[in-house]
Formats: sequence, structure tokens, C-alpha cells
Amino acid sequence: MAEQLNLFSSLGFEAPEPEPPPPPDKETQLKAIAEVCAVCTICELHTGRTHSVFSDGNPDAKVMLIGEGPGRHEDESGVPFVGRAGQLLNKIFESVGFNRQKDLYICNIVKCRPPNNRTPTPKEMEACFPYLDQQLELVKPEIIILAGSTAIKGLLKDQRSVTKIRGQWQKWRGIDVMPIFHPAYLLRNDSREVGSPKWLTWQDMKAIRERYEALQLTT
Ligand code: SF4
Repeated sequence: MAEQLNLFSSLGFEAPEPEPPPPPDKETQLKAIAEVCAVCTICELHTGRTHSVFSDGNPDAKVMLIGEGPGRHEDESGVPFVGRAGQLLNKIFESVGFNRQKDLYICNIVKCRPPNNRTPTPKEMEACFPYLDQQLELVKPEIIILAGSTAIKGLLKDQRSVTKIRGQWQKWRGIDVMPIFHPAYLLRNDSREVGSPKWLTWQDMKAIRERYEALQLTT
């Protein structure tokens, strides 16, 4: 390249601008954001964390699941949805043919564990939102699943509880959004009778799978 530039100059031409380097790929960008998140002190939640919990799954997935925030197991491991609720979540997704590592990108509204698993405050959710916003920008999901009322408030800014809007397709920046019960709630409500939270979640998962197939999404 240097020889070429010398040749241009010696012939009296203006040397062309060197080409800018290509932008970093999606995984590199997400990793860089996760590194910032790991040492973030923007809100008070950082004081009680062992690890910030950024994401799990496939950044190329077409389905993004967003939960509330890390619990004890997630804080210890640095991975979202790994406790009992996470195991139930895996089963729920497997029941409609989704593989957690291949078909989903999983994250939370807040990346640090709230003390005693309390609900994150609106201020904490707002402080943490830029991380989620960047994840959404880079992953570009075509279906977003919101697990529980906090995820609904955090993303849709909709104050209705999950019991009011679960099972009803919503839109966020043009993307299909399905609110479902949080798996921790399903652990506390074990009935599988028609109309029970587990039964309703099964209907919601079937609707998500149908939409996934209608949009011809594959990973
Ligand atoms: Fe930063 Fe989010 Fe953790 Fe608050 S919850 S300290 S904004 S990473």
C-alpha cells in the first residue's frame, strides 16, 4: 500500500484516502459492552453484586427473551436463568422446539441483582436500559418475549400487569412482542389445569412458535 501511495504522489496525483477498517462484528461489540457492564457503577445495584449478568444464548437468534433481573444463582454464575426458574424456562422452550443455546438470546431488564430479589425500581431500570437497548440494536430479534410484569414495564413502559396482557401480541419499534408469565411465578403455581398459569403459558408458547414459523425464522 505504501508503494502505491508513493507511486500516486510521484505521478502528481492526490493519494486516495485509505479505506477505514471494517466495523467490529456483532459478537465483538456485544463482548465489549458486556465488559463495560461488568464494572458498571451507574446505579446502586452494583454494590450488592457478585457478577453483572449480561446474556446467554445465541446473538444471531431471532427470538430474544427478556426477564426481570438476576437472582442468587445468576449473580453467582454470571449467567441469566440458571436456577430452578431457568430450568423450567428451558423445558418450556424445548416443549415447542426451541433450543436455549441455539434459538434464543436471553437477557434481563437490569444486569445486577437487586437485594433480596426485590423488584428493581423505575430509576434502576432506566439506568440500566442503555445496555438492553444496545443488545436489541445488535441482536435485532424478530420476536421479543417478555417474562413477567417488570420486563413489560421496562421495555414497553406499560404499567399493566402480566396477567392483563400475557398472550396478546404487542409491538416495540415494529418488532412482535409477546408477554408471558415469569417462570418463577409458574414455579409457585404448579397446577396444569385448563386456565392455570402453566396452561396459559403453554398456549402463549404455541402462539410464539406459530409466529416464528409464519415469519419463516430460522437460526
Ligand atoms: Fe450498571 Fe445496570 Fe448494574 Fe445498575 S444494574 S450498576 S446500571 S449494570
